[in-house]
Amino acid sequence: MRDVLESYSKFIAKTYRRTPVVFSRGKGVYLWDVQGKRYVDFVAGIAVCILGHSHPAVIRAVNRQVKKLVHVSNLYYIKEQAELARLLARICPRGIQKFFFCNSGTEAVEAALKLAVKHSGKGKIIAMQGSFHGRTAASLSVTWNPSYRGPFRDLLVKKIQFAKFNDPDSLEKKLKKGATAVIMEPIQAEGGVNVPSEDFLPTVRKMCEEYGVLLILDEIQTGMGRTGKWFACQHWNVDPDEITIAKGLAGGFPIGCLGAKKKVMDSFSPGDHASTFGGNPFVCSVATEVIKTVERMRLPQRAGKMGAFFKKRLQELAERFPSIIKDVRGMGLLLGVEIWDDKTASTIVEECFKRGYLINCTRGNVLRFVPPLIIEEKHINGLTSTLEEVLKGVR
Ligand code: PLP
Repeated sequence: MRDVLESYSKFIAKTYRRTPVVFSRGKGVYLWDVQGKRYVDFVAGIAVCILGHSHPAVIRAVNRQVKKLVHVSNLYYIKEQAELARLLARICPRGIQKFFFCNSGTEAVEAALKLAVKHSGKGKIIAMQGSFHGRTAASLSVTWNPSYRGPFRDLLVKKIQFAKFNDPDSLEKKLKKGATAVIMEPIQAEGGVNVPSEDFLPTVRKMCEEYGVLLILDEIQTGMGRTGKWFACQHWNVDPDEITIAKGLAGGFPIGCLGAKKKVMDSFSPGDHASTFGGNPFVCSVATEVIKTVERMRLPQRAGKMGAFFKKRLQELAERFPSIIKDVRGMGLLLGVEIWDDKTASTIVEECFKRGYLINCTRGNVLRFVPPLIIEEKHINGLTSTLEEVLKGVR
């Protein structure tokens, strides 16, 4: 392990604060480090490995496709891309019928913003305070955290306004000044697992219609069954004009996707946008297999049920440790536990790690749980007992 850490300090950019561990293999919800220690993975590559690690269906799809065809350019028609798009049109919110494929979440957001500007001929975007949409120029511009945006001010898109999340009046004030699109996560994930009140999303949808503004929903973290439905907006019966998907879509292989209503997507003409790797036969055939497997295993429903069980256990802990836990929130298997102070939150993450549980902390003080959707009650019980032991220790 020491040589890996040394190579990192010599050869790898310091863009992450990393836990000193090197994993060598994974199976299901488990990861093993190079010393053979086993961990239960409640991070899942940050909401990516929805089928866990080394799922047999994914292995089969990889083996099958890698022998047939890995990559051809989008200069040609790609059968696997067409098949994936057809499946997505079936599971996506109503009206989302056409797709553009890329390789990551941030690229999907870039594509969504470009499409909105191309469609309307204008570029005034409203985003939400507390949002996270990625790290490339346009998606960083609609990302709230000023410390992420600050150093890159010169590179950012200028016409962005931030409305208060969960505050329709704040949004309406911005809409009155004129806008092209509203971009938001249905549940803010990186921003601290913030679930809006029941009527917020439907109100946003109505306002966007009234003001003739596109609604872009970023479902990169909330999508693919995590919150108990294929996409979180389906809990509120809200259909966006554009949707961004990534993370779990190919179960761990890099993919990003922009979906849009036909009349919106048809604003793109050849040359308006492109990606060399986007939607290649390999990743599309794996993503198709992931969707079919999620469907066959009824994982969205399972995430809803398992998430409710998990949340209840976390709420019991909150009742027992009110001086440490401020709040428990989230939906399905996107759950957050807000800790009163940042230092205690990071101590809890470290102590869980020592005991073989991978969890992560976002916004400084919110423990975030985004396990594979195949997680079982016994793993959740194991984690909550470990948390109880850790909380006793930090009290
Ligand atoms: N949008 C949301 C809601 C996200 O959670 C993330 C990543 O965490 C992104 C966009 C960026 O995705 P990526 O890291 O794949 O570029």
